[in-house]
Amino acid sequence: MIPYGKQIIDDDDVNAVIEALKSPLITQGPIVKQFENALASYCGVKHAVAVNSGTAALHIACLALGIGKGDLVWVSPITFVASANCALYCGADVDFVDIDYETGNMSAVALKKKLCTSTRLPKAIIVVHLAGLPADMEEISNLARHYGIKIIEDACHALGARYKNTITGDCTYSDITVFSFHPVKAITTAEGGMAVTNDLNLANKMRIYGCHGITRDSSLMDDRYEGDWYYEQQYLGYNYRMPEINAALGLSQLKHLDQWVKTRNDYADFYFEKLSNCSIELPAKLNDRYCAYHLFILKVAPEKRKQIFDKLKKASIGVNVHYIPVYHQPYYQKNRKYAPLLNTEKFYQKIITVPLCPAITLDELNYVSYEVKNALT
Ligand SMILES: *Cc1c(COP(=O)(O)O)cnc(C)c1O
Repeated sequence: MIPYGKQIIDDDDVNAVIEALKSPLITQGPIVKQFENALASYCGVKHAVAVNSGTAALHIACLALGIGKGDLVWVSPITFVASANCALYCGADVDFVDIDYETGNMSAVALKKKLCTSTRLPKAIIVVHLAGLPADMEEISNLARHYGIKIIEDACHALGARYKNTITGDCTYSDITVFSFHPVKAITTAEGGMAVTNDLNLANKMRIYGCHGITRDSSLMDDRYEGDWYYEQQYLGYNYRMPEINAALGLSQLKHLDQWVKTRNDYADFYFEKLSNCSIELPAKLNDRYCAYHLFILKVAPEKRKQIFDKLKKASIGVNVHYIPVYHQPYYQKNRKYAPLLNTEKFYQKIITVPLCPAITLDELNYVSYEVKNALT
């Protein structure tokens, strides 16, 4: 099976992990800090908080923004369920904003319309950069700022992407940006995630929420310091800490990031060339942004989608559908009645993800292209 996404681990990665494993601290040591600093510096953002998954990063982001019971959060519906679950973890209600049909990203037009017609406004919106293509962040952040709404960028697909003259993760257009280091993502720590922000207060809160709600930093405490043993639990937090072993892998992987994103772009170009002039809609290309190509999503005729999917699967191609609209999920359906969103439905009926990652070869891409064309007939 040619996987839709898969990690690359080299000897340097293996050695970095072994070294971390042999060091006195295998969790909560200096490498986590180094990884945080390296990622913050890559993105051009002030603060980074490493945690043990992208989902945990989304959760502490919501908590730090004060999202709780009685609050509403609007999310992009074409995404992994974690993008919306994080708001439910906090006791908030979730609703969805329709997408742009071309990109699958939250539509600024739909957002504007929903803001103008809703009686209840969200405290925050969570914007996903689907497949690694940055959403229309300038328009979206202008709208959100006008209404005093916070923005979380779910950039789990978009490490290494660029938008206008910004790097995804520099938080020019958001309060917090979140990354995942799951093995299918741009770089991996096995499981892991990072939340980044330019706001020191949010960074401190996220760090505390990811560590039981506890701080040992006396500057963040009330003046009840009792001695060097003293720590303070300020919130109900979680143990979301990233171990040193995983951070060592992440730090080593980060060296390859630019090259891997470049390879993903080269592979995407290959698909664009091979799959043009057939009855497929190819991913949107926008010249004011650099896509990280976490995924390569094709659109085919809805009535043929299942047949094409099954044929490709039979040809040992790791096809996928990214994603089932989150509000289709039974858990969401039973919580609340969600009306179907027009572009989201139209997009979902057509999509198939074909393999694209630096771990596969040009020969494999060629084979996939051939089989895709074959499956159309
Ligand atoms: C992978 C992913 C997540 C969750 O990340 P984990 O590290 O697996 O918890 C959240 N949102 C999106 C869009 C993702 O692709």
